[in-house]
Amino acid sequence: MSVKFIDFSEQYKLIKDEIDAGLKKVFEAGNFIMGEEAKNFEASFAKYCDTKYGVGVNSGTDALYLALSALDITVGDEVILPSYTFIATALCISYTGATPVFVEIEEGTYNIDPDAFKAAITPKTKAVIPVHLYGQPANMDDINAVAREHGIAVIEDAAQSHGAAYRGQKVGSLGDVACFSFYPTKSLGAFGDGGMVVTNNEEISQKVQMLRDYGRTNRYAHKIKGFNSRLDTVQAVVLAAKLKHLDQWNVMRAKHAANYNAQLAGCTELIAPTVMDDRTHVYQTYAVRLPNRDHVLEKMRQNNIGVLIHYPIPIHLQEAYADAGYKPGDLPLSEKIAGEIMSLPMYPHMTEDDVTFVCDTLKRLI
Ligand SMILES: *Cc1c(COP(=O)(O)O)cnc(C)c1O
Repeated sequence: MSVKFIDFSEQYKLIKDEIDAGLKKVFEAGNFIMGEEAKNFEASFAKYCDTKYGVGVNSGTDALYLALSALDITVGDEVILPSYTFIATALCISYTGATPVFVEIEEGTYNIDPDAFKAAITPKTKAVIPVHLYGQPANMDDINAVAREHGIAVIEDAAQSHGAAYRGQKVGSLGDVACFSFYPTKSLGAFGDGGMVVTNNEEISQKVQMLRDYGRTNRYAHKIKGFNSRLDTVQAVVLAAKLKHLDQWNVMRAKHAANYNAQLAGCTELIAPTVMDDRTHVYQTYAVRLPNRDHVLEKMRQNNIGVLIHYPIPIHLQEAYADAGYKPGDLPLSEKIAGEIMSLPMYPHMTEDDVTFVCDTLKRLI
């Protein structure tokens, strides 16, 4: 038996006909960039997030970069983020010329620690980027309270949390502006790159609309120096078809997570995900902590089980950020968890037998 880390082939069968018909329409109309389907998808995804505006862009990384740019974040500014995340959360800050300030996470959720955020604020701090890691929202009430007190903008990195909710409120609507990725392996994934900025703030929405399209206000007038970062019509067709299934797919993921939790419950060496009772976890990633991680990971692969590490090196210790001057020991909890974490196979259409095979193998190896 073997279990892939991710396998979307069953998903594709469900949406194939709709995508084929939609793509045929786009190919015949020839409206490949920001066509009608892209505009419709922006509206439906914004509605899904309970926000007024959605602006489709090239990727999650660009969504973050354009959101920061729309907030006029630039050289001399500081932006606070957790070190324990995908590197794009930091890169987007560096693109603006601002300085990323890496802080510690909470032990249970692996999300940014609001106290660490508060302690890192200086007069230069312009924004904070809470990441809803693995699919569980960050502690947004505390983050928003601190941010409001200090006049700091809150940018949600929602790249891993499509459809999750915090105190009944959808991810994407919890800060000033939120950024999603539609990279193929995300819970809502395109057949290529894609992303979106969602917000209730009309000014931010308009600025991101200009920034993604050469700074344009109309065909010939360019008000600001913008970029080329738009959502393809082709990707919008795929995403619109998938969005209709997203809630159900999230339920399927949660069921597998519950099954993992139950089967791994007796394994005291292992730490399963902690979910706070005021939020939902959509399990883009199901990650466990275990001793002897590297050895077990290698053995899992030898047993034909797809496992990965999200993330083995916190960003403050990445070579790319050597110039930021951090050293091992600066963020001990992030560093400890990076050494213990392992992501297990997770996708909506895996079977109960798949989960059982993964758990039996894992328990045996530990
Ligand atoms: C995937 C991801 C991104 C970047 O999205 P891309 O579409 O790959 O550019 C940013 N932040 C987090 C937390 C991610 O998981």
